Amino acid sequence: MDSTAVRSSKWRRDCVERDLRVGMHRVAFLVLKDKKDVGFEFEKREPKAKRERKPKEPAAKIDFTGKQPLGECPISGGKILETETAYICEHSQSDRKPCKFKLSKTILGREIPKEQARKLLTTGKTDLLDAFISKRGRPFAAYLKLEDGKIGFEFPEKPARATEFKEAQTS
Ligand SMILES: [Zn+2]
Repeated sequence: MDSTAVRSSKWRRDCVERDLRVGMHRVAFLVLKDKKDVGFEFEKREPKAKRERKPKEPAAKIDFTGKQPLGECPISGGKILETETAYICEHSQSDRKPCKFKLSKTILGREIPKEQARKLLTTGKTDLLDAFISKRGRPFAAYLKLEDGKIGFEFPEKPARATEFKEAQTS
């Protein structure tokens, strides 16, 4: 608050009695500025005590016990296993250099069924899958394919719109 604020002690006392709680629960006083404008004056914030940072706990390991592998990881050769949201490599749980391979179970609004994930891993390409939704909201059909351990789209011979090539992304 600038120094022109007029702080009549009596007036201020009145104001204090009517603490205004604003915003992030900070107490504000009404003050008279330039003898005519009423403004707010905030209590000084207490500097936050620095919290001691706890070392990050490692993420809980996914238990793959009893799960049937869908195929071989194109990056590490490990087993690909199903989780709730994705098909991932068994080596993704390694402490050292975890494998980054991941095939999301839903790509652009389209569910990727297990059979197609299996097919992608074994043949490098899925069947033609329809009902992907482009970022502009247009449905389109494409194959998913593996390229250097990454999942990409391959479009059928006669795509509906060339623009959808650019929009399509695997994430
Ligand atoms: Zn892997």
